[in-house]
Amino acid sequence: MVIVMSQAATADDIAAVVVQIETHGGQAFVSRGVTRTIIGVVGAESVLETIDVSGLSGLGDTNRITNPYKLVSAANHNRRSTIRVRGVPIGPDTFTLIAGPCAVETAEQTLAAAMLAKRAGASLLRGGAYKPRSSPYAFQGLARDGLRILAEVRDATGLPVVTEVLDVKDVDDVAEHADMLQIGTRNMQNFGLLQAVGGVGKPVLLKRGLSATYEEWLMAAEYIAQRGNLDIVLCERGIRSYEPAIRNMFDVSAVPMVQQLSHLPVIVDPSHAAGRRDLVLPLARAGIAAGADGVMVDVHPHPEHALVDGAQALTGAMLDELAEAVVTLPALLGRTSAAHLTG
Ligand code: PEP
Ligand code: MN
Repeated sequence: MVIVMSQAATADDIAAVVVQIETHGGQAFVSRGVTRTIIGVVGAESVLETIDVSGLSGLGDTNRITNPYKLVSAANHNRRSTIRVRGVPIGPDTFTLIAGPCAVETAEQTLAAAMLAKRAGASLLRGGAYKPRSSPYAFQGLARDGLRILAEVRDATGLPVVTEVLDVKDVDDVAEHADMLQIGTRNMQNFGLLQAVGGVGKPVLLKRGLSATYEEWLMAAEYIAQRGNLDIVLCERGIRSYEPAIRNMFDVSAVPMVQQLSHLPVIVDPSHAAGRRDLVLPLARAGIAAGADGVMVDVHPHPEHALVDGAQALTGAMLDELAEAVVTLPALLGRTSAAHLTG
């Protein structure tokens, strides 16, 4: 059982809840976040049934939520949330295009990819400085040099930057250079990393784990929220299936389902789902039609020379074509393109 205190709860309110729990034989674990305090209650089922805190003061609304995830749940939210990344909105009213290279390779390549993204109307730049590679012999990313390049390209183009952080030790560095921190599919249940990004005050892009259920995904988001950071965007990027023709199976149901379960924005990454560039546009269209709040795609000035994921990287011309869908399809659904909002 979890008890979420309101933002206005005092130390006495928290102490009274703990006393109530302990008096009935339960154990209380108090976790103080940046904006609110959460009290985990452990004990036998029979003990938990006898604990009633409803008459106490300082309780948050979330106590009435029956889901295991409280802070990211759609309950108690009339509207889904809009998250801002350096002013760029991601949420239910707008549609946000994020594009860039899979990996930062050189300053020239990153700038060229960013110019393609900008030309197409993207409002955020993606690019990995720390790359989670299946092989330890594969290019692992430029690390801190890559972060520096991303910050320079952001300054040159005006596109805010989202980039992955792989390790707790790099969280502060990445937060210093980037505008949004990405948690990749392989780290969705790296709980220490989730807690660390929850504490740095920058928006987080949380990709769905390779084989994660919706509930596991939302519990991962809850780890970030529990540290006081509710600026979280969820990203469907395909799940493992038995079909070898595609890299991952794009789960289009995830978009409307998770939007029902959570107030957080949901975007899609058809590049990492498909693993091949010819499928990126149709999958993007499917994601948009399902109601996604944005699309993130790989683009490379020379996909044939890309050091990572070249097969799925769009050319500039293909990105332009995708961007057209990003203007026309969301408009049919009553949305405005974020790029057009932010100019
Ligand atoms: C990426 O976006 O560069 C990436 C590695 O994605 P994923 O974690 O979804 O594989
Ligand atoms: Mn990639």
